[in-house]
Amino acid sequence: MEVLKHVIELKYEIIIVTNQYLLGEGTINQAQYDKYTRRLVRLLASVGVEIRDIFYCPHARWVDCRCRKPSTGLFDQAIDKYPLIDLSTAFLVGDSICDVELAKAVGIPSFGVGLGYSGSIHLPSISDLCDHQLW
Ligand SMILES: [Zn+2]
Repeated sequence: MEVLKHVIELKYEIIIVTNQYLLGEGTINQAQYDKYTRRLVRLLASVGVEIRDIFYCPHARWVDCRCRKPSTGLFDQAIDKYPLIDLSTAFLVGDSICDVELAKAVGIPSFGVGLGYSGSIHLPSISDLCDHQLW
C-alpha cells in the first residue's frame, strides 16, 4: 500500500493490466472476478490509492489471443482509451516474466519484483520501488 501511495504522491496514475486466465479456464466465473476486483479497488481507494483503470485478459492459456501478456493487447487498449498517457515517463511493475516482456515490447522500463531478471530493474520486494528514482 505504502509504495502505491508513494507513486500516487509523485502524480502518477495507476493502470492495472492483468492476465486472468482462470476466467477462461473456468476456475472462477465473471461474478467472482468482478467481486474480487471491486473489493481490491475499494480497499485501495480507502487508503488513498485510486486505480485509474483495469484491463484484463479473460482468455484461457490455450487461446491464441492478442491480450494475454506478454502480448501487447491490454497495453494497446489502455493507450487507446487514455491517449494522453506520457510513455516517456511511464513504467511497468510486475512479478512475472510476462510483465517484463510486455514492457520490453512496448518500449517502457520495468521493475521486476522478485524476478532477478536482467531485462528489468530488479526489486527484491515491491516496497523497494520507493528507493528508486522514477521517471
Ligand atoms: Zn486475451
